[in-house]
Amino acid sequence: MDTIKTDMAVIGSGPGGYAAAFAAADAGKRVVLVEQSKRLGGVCLNAGCIPSKALLNATHQIVAARASAKRGISFAEPVVDTAKLKEWKEGVLNKLASGIAMLAKKRNVQIVTGAASFVDDGALSVATEDGTQRIEFENAIIATGSKPALPALFDLGDPRVMTSTEALEMDGIPKTLLIIGGGYIGMELGTVYAALGTGVTVVEALDVLLAGADSDLARPVTIYAKRNFKKLHLKSKVSGLKASSAGIEVSIESATGAIVETFERVLVSVGRIPNTAGLNIEAANCELDERGFVRVDDRQRTKANNIFAIGDVVGGVMLAHKAVREARVAVGSILGSDAAKNTPHIPAVVFTDPELAWVGLTESDAKEQGVDHQIAKFSWGACGRSLTMDRIDGLTKLIVDPVSERILGVGITGPGAGELIAEATLALEMGATAKDLANTIHPHPTLSETLMEAAEVFYGHATHALPGQARN
Ligand code: FAD
Repeated sequence: MDTIKTDMAVIGSGPGGYAAAFAAADAGKRVVLVEQSKRLGGVCLNAGCIPSKALLNATHQIVAARASAKRGISFAEPVVDTAKLKEWKEGVLNKLASGIAMLAKKRNVQIVTGAASFVDDGALSVATEDGTQRIEFENAIIATGSKPALPALFDLGDPRVMTSTEALEMDGIPKTLLIIGGGYIGMELGTVYAALGTGVTVVEALDVLLAGADSDLARPVTIYAKRNFKKLHLKSKVSGLKASSAGIEVSIESATGAIVETFERVLVSVGRIPNTAGLNIEAANCELDERGFVRVDDRQRTKANNIFAIGDVVGGVMLAHKAVREARVAVGSILGSDAAKNTPHIPAVVFTDPELAWVGLTESDAKEQGVDHQIAKFSWGACGRSLTMDRIDGLTKLIVDPVSERILGVGITGPGAGELIAEATLALEMGATAKDLANTIHPHPTLSETLMEAAEVFYGHATHALPGQARN
């Protein structure tokens, strides 16, 4: 095969990789995008953000239909055809993936399908179906992402022990499911399966679910899980798994003693590890940190001057939009432009029921870091829109600098929190004060008013809260 010579080689076609490839191509660079999977889009499109949100949306209809009975509108119990559900979900993924392929083609981004590894800091070798392809590059961007961690203790080689990848395949609805890990991936998938009728049990080593989020914001999600899941074991650990004909026998060291229980399936969601094995990264003079992530500086540059790394493979917040921002920063560095800078304002959204979202400093961060702050909270119980939606379990919270009145962080829990956090992110990005939020006219009746009212709470005079309420 003839050697391909290019300005830029991007390894991995996830949200980081394809954003980088497209940005470089738009700036006139010759770009080759190498992807080992046949379908473009990375984990986000194929086994992460998109399939999980498709299934959450589909199964939310079941929960919403059941809840509507108390409002005088009743439906029969749903009949779930998993084959059709799967086919619909795959249709969404195919549409998005072919959109990426079309956008790549229109930009003359050359796609090479196969696993890449570095020959040195100027060349890649790609194992394609037709043989080994050599690619020589001026610059390279490593965007190889991450994969689910599967500790040896849980790795039975039995398909009934799943990671998020298999759980999203939606091959049938198990009667019982044990989820190891109460982080966002475990809780989102637990929400999907519980809505489908599976008895979901969660085992979490910490004393809270969704660690990282403020406990007052995570509380409504925990309440939902307590009501809709079979069992939550907090401060508990799974000490062993054993396959049997009846299912997977699980030993749990729970806060109340040892338990042995058999589950039809087990989902292991205990974190993700970077995809660096097989990249031969040492040959390119790049360095890994002690946890195996590619080490980069604040312009995403690795130890090798011409090689950059972005997204999950560099660690930090493992979210798609963070990968996209890093793609812009890396391409900007290569082009010599300073247009995109890294930002600490990376919103996080957990698409449970209710949703949970935050950006900037959390209240617990502020306390831990000794940052002088004031909290202003507005409960959705006093919001007209949430009452019309019959969802008063929400909360909007601002973390504000008491002197400059600048917003340091925002946390929201409630349906649609993931959409609402965008306004808060813009506020932080622009250095807005609580007054800016309070003075901005928010349309009525919408959930966005809770941001304005929380800002008014900061000044002690929110229309729908008593003076001085929820301000500390
Ligand atoms: P990835 O998307 O991981 O893509 C890396 C690509 O590189 C893959 O396609 C892989 O095949 C390819 N690759 C790896 N090694 C090689 C090689 N040697 N040669 C060629 N190709 C290679 N994030 C959000 O922001 N919102 C969400 O709602 C959300 N939900 C999620 C739900 C689940 C269940 C999971 C698992 C993740 C979720 N994430 C979510 C996280 C998100 O998917 C990742 O942060 C994001 O995909 C990272 O993008 P990336 O570009 O770094 O890499």
